[in-house]
Amino acid sequence: MTPVLEFREVHAGYGPFRALFGVSLALESGRVLALLGSNGAGKTTIARVASGLVCPTQGSVLIDGAEFGGKRPWEFAREGFVHAPEGRSVFGSLTVSENLQLALRFRHKATLSVCIDKAYDLFPRLGERRLQLAGTLSGGEQRMLALARVMVDEPRVLIADELSLGLAPIIVDEVYETLRVIQNTGTSLLIVEQHVGHALAIAETVVMLDRGRVQFDGPVADFASQDAGVPR
Ligand code: ATP
Repeated sequence: MTPVLEFREVHAGYGPFRALFGVSLALESGRVLALLGSNGAGKTTIARVASGLVCPTQGSVLIDGAEFGGKRPWEFAREGFVHAPEGRSVFGSLTVSENLQLALRFRHKATLSVCIDKAYDLFPRLGERRLQLAGTLSGGEQRMLALARVMVDEPRVLIADELSLGLAPIIVDEVYETLRVIQNTGTSLLIVEQHVGHALAIAETVVMLDRGRVQFDGPVADFASQDAGVPR
């Protein structure tokens, strides 16, 4: 099957600084790929290339087998590629329902309530709290709402860059429960993560980076069975 996203020998960087050196990887449709590596390894740069925010200087970025390298972020978005927002990314003084309505502001009124009901089906806890101010939700619930705001667009590929950064372990668990729900909708996930244990529990494939180069690319089982030298 053609991967929904593929990198072939991608080089990229920032001005004269080179961050990626010939990175190849593939995300199969409906699957979860965990991108691991130490600080500065190039994980975020891959996430940026995968959403059109950084253009590769060499190599190919393919969506459904078609060349996409050099295209603009909105063209990636049009293909259903969405970068999950960092932090809580919700409007604290608005209710859960108002936050979802804002995310859907360009939709026709007739489809608005259908889309919001779908979000509540996906995340019942948000449905129970629809009239609660978003700022009074727990940290995990705020991330859930931030992800629900993204999911109303029914993305094909969700790029989640360190969603759990700075969160207490119990809230990280909640964020991962939310990602599981998203995974079950058939959305493909590219997860950039420092919490290796969580990422390995949800992913099928691991790509491990070291200073801009792929050090490991394969199934989670193979990664887990080798000493990758990664803190868990
Ligand atoms: P971390 O886990 O610390 O976030 P990372 O694996 O996500 O690291 P990147 O953010 O992709 O790594 O950074 C890769 C390299 O590119 C680093 O050396 C970083 O300093 C550099 N870099 C990242 N963003 C920029 C930028 N906007 N301008 C210049 N250099 C950058």
